[in-house]
Amino acid sequence: MQIMQKTKYILFVVALLSVSALYGADAGSVLSLLDLSRPGLEKVASLHAEGKDSLASVALLDYFKSRTGVKSVGVDASNPKLTKEERRWADEGLEHKFFVHKGYQPSYFYGDDIDWQYWPVKDNELRWQLHRTKWWVPMGKAFRITGDEKYAREWVYQYRDWIRKNPLTEFSGILDKDMENVDNVYFAWRPLEVCDRLAHQIEQFELFMPSEHFTPDFLIDFLDNYHRHADFANSHYSKQGNHLLFEAQRVIFAGAFFPEFKDAAAWRKTGVDILNREIGKQVLPDGVQFELDPGYHMASVNIFGKALRMMDANGYRGEFPESYLDAVGKMVEFTYNIAFPDYTLPVFSDNKLHTKPGMLPNYRSWRKFFPDDCMLRYLATDGKKGHVPAYTSRAFTDGGFYVMRSGWGDDATVMVLKAGPKGEWHNQYDNGTFEMWTAGRNFFPDSGSYIYGGDDEVLKQRNWFRQTAVHNTLTLDNRNLDNRVSKLLKWEATPCGDVTVVETPGYDGLTHRRAVFFVDKKFYVIADEAYGDAAGDVAIHYQLLPCDPVENTAKKSVSTAFADHNNITLRVFGAENMVAEEGWMSPAYRQKEARPAYAFRSQKKSGKPVRFITVIYPTGADDASAHRINATFKGKHSAGGAALEVTVDGKKYPLSYTL
Ligand code: MG
Repeated sequence: MQIMQKTKYILFVVALLSVSALYGADAGSVLSLLDLSRPGLEKVASLHAEGKDSLASVALLDYFKSRTGVKSVGVDASNPKLTKEERRWADEGLEHKFFVHKGYQPSYFYGDDIDWQYWPVKDNELRWQLHRTKWWVPMGKAFRITGDEKYAREWVYQYRDWIRKNPLTEFSGILDKDMENVDNVYFAWRPLEVCDRLAHQIEQFELFMPSEHFTPDFLIDFLDNYHRHADFANSHYSKQGNHLLFEAQRVIFAGAFFPEFKDAAAWRKTGVDILNREIGKQVLPDGVQFELDPGYHMASVNIFGKALRMMDANGYRGEFPESYLDAVGKMVEFTYNIAFPDYTLPVFSDNKLHTKPGMLPNYRSWRKFFPDDCMLRYLATDGKKGHVPAYTSRAFTDGGFYVMRSGWGDDATVMVLKAGPKGEWHNQYDNGTFEMWTAGRNFFPDSGSYIYGGDDEVLKQRNWFRQTAVHNTLTLDNRNLDNRVSKLLKWEATPCGDVTVVETPGYDGLTHRRAVFFVDKKFYVIADEAYGDAAGDVAIHYQLLPCDPVENTAKKSVSTAFADHNNITLRVFGAENMVAEEGWMSPAYRQKEARPAYAFRSQKKSGKPVRFITVIYPTGADDASAHRINATFKGKHSAGGAALEVTVDGKKYPLSYTL
């Protein structure tokens, strides 16, 4: 019996050594990365001290299997939820059809012998995001729900295959040019991807831990790879922007989830220092994230929030000052102020359409930090608890977002006007544009972004959506703005109506002043004045939602004709002509839908202003095109203000502002 046991032990150790030799991670080196003086690691420490590293790794796995006191804030590994879609990603993952990007479906086949450099479409995102291995967490959930070891076996195989084929070689930074010719390391080890793996491998670690395939040897490989990731991330931060935030948050996760690493405290400290510093840089005083992109804004809230939650869960909360939480609170307020009552947000810049099911979890998770915010409570509980704010309209003057709102309910009318600073990479040439929503319908959704970066063909598609002319604003000769800095001249919000006046010196010799009146909190009147020395073709553009509208080019008017009696009519005064333009809206990556778009044009002479008035009138159940609308400027263009008279169905609305 004793001989049998000894033989078994020898065979076991030989098996361990041979597997180690195959994959290369050395148990001794990995163990030396750990602080073995921590409580619970006594057995590992003594075996390691005796030079019995294979046995020490067995003891280490036992330690992690029964470890308590460290919490993660991602997937609940003991009770995971697997959606139908995730189940498909997990099952296709078994066949090496990897879910890389929602914009590229069905998923591509990466070969029986996985080709981690396969790049079927030269969109950089497709190559980068392969290395986020998004199907591994679903495989982990499928394993925990079904108990089927095939998911764990395949994960271990793919995890090691990835390590073997994507070594970290000499790295001199990420180049944003000539991507087709850079080495694989630029894609596999871009800091953003590295940090994505840092976060999700915590979830995989927890999900697959009970598997028989999660062996002591595999643990050594895992820890070796994970430490290499965290170490690399902590010494290769992006210079700035949202990438830096993602990276810092995930290094914090690494430091909080694996406090056993000697470097863990340093990882947490660097990550926390970066977030504390960047929240002051990237979040403007009014709470708007400096990309001016609602999607990245929310992603940043989640980064700041997740870092706080992870630190909190593991007893490190004191490392964030109170001002940090205040800034996050302002970011949350901004989010719900620009939200429409159906929970959607404008798809300005590179944002995508986020609908209610996607937004509810955000509000629920944010609410934990701000229990006294009644609107947050209202949103998180889908209106069951809490209440809407006493105010309606709100200006965010640093980010340049102006919300003119009649209320918070489904019957409200809301315009979000965007005219701010230049912003960062994700921001577009869109100063002066807006989205407008009434009674459940967004009549002027932004064109969106469609796609990010890649080869010339991909970039051409991206650039179409970034143009000034595909926004609801003014152009000179249909060109993109030369200058993308707007300033606020007037903001006045009263219970009876709002006035916002913004100005953009968008072109050399041409300044666009846009005054928006929210008349009786019922309809919008937009007074556009283009002035300066420039001469040329001046146009204001309007992009409707996809629909079959009623056009009247003689009257320079267009109306929607939805059968549900929720319509608008738009009419422009002062333009020489009205022409239909190419129109698209993209709610998601590589998805787009044709939609009606129009330009209202006039020739501008040097030194003479061009002036337009647009009336956008929600018409309810009436025949939208039957309304009698008139509008005219009273007096000449003046830097000090403007007066106009608008008539709708015989009722006069004298409107004016002075500066
Ligand atoms: Mg846009």
